Amino acid sequence: MARKPQYSPSRLGTYQTCPRQYWFQYIRKLPRRAWANQSFGNSLHRTLQQIHETGGPGKLEDGLTTLESAWTGAGYATREQEAEALLRGKDLLARYYADWSVQEGTPILLEKRLSAPYKDVMLLGIIDRVDRHADESLEIIDYKSGTMPETLRPATVQQLAIYHHLIQARLEETPRRHSIHYLSSNARISLPFTESSLQEVLEGAYETIRAIEGDQRYVPRVDRHCHFCDYARHCEAADEAPPREA
Ligand code: SF4
Repeated sequence: MARKPQYSPSRLGTYQTCPRQYWFQYIRKLPRRAWANQSFGNSLHRTLQQIHETGGPGKLEDGLTTLESAWTGAGYATREQEAEALLRGKDLLARYYADWSVQEGTPILLEKRLSAPYKDVMLLGIIDRVDRHADESLEIIDYKSGTMPETLRPATVQQLAIYHHLIQARLEETPRRHSIHYLSSNARISLPFTESSLQEVLEGAYETIRAIEGDQRYVPRVDRHCHFCDYARHCEAADEAPPREA
């Protein structure tokens, strides 16, 4: 019997952005291109994982060495652009170290891949970090390499709600805080979830899964996001995208 697909936040987010992009990526499985901002984010994620696996921020020079060894240069247009990004990563890491507080919780999960059933489907996620606090409560932490936005993206809210479900299923505990740490702002925001708002978001994710499973056409959804689409050169609708800048 065929294994049911597992639905991750990024898989759902891709369909919500554009069903045709989803089709290229998950049905036709065309290769994706490397983007500098993704390489930057991945380098920081690996660095923070290693730092916290070895006891958390200690000497900054050790953290900077970890960043250099975790660094990936894929997607940068020039060596100069990559060098600038590495400097920015070091600056950002220095601020992370400077603001690190012993009041932080203790990480109990780092870059953990979890899956769990939800109704008749499987949800999947790789969770950056889960902390246990002194009062025994759990905090889910997701790192974003960019700056803190004025309003949270619905995809981010959906991602945290799915992580909540996965942690609850794995640890049989209810996480109390659901946080996004914006590394370029060095600021953390916790989402004001309630039990009912969490369920509402999960229901929305499930509706997207139903739409995916019933979709026969994967109609392109053209917008400015087409300028950042890995599959624009394959897509019949890409030329209809509005100009990149408003
Ligand atoms: S180019 Fe635009 S419409 Fe085409 S697949 Fe990509 S995001 Fe969708």
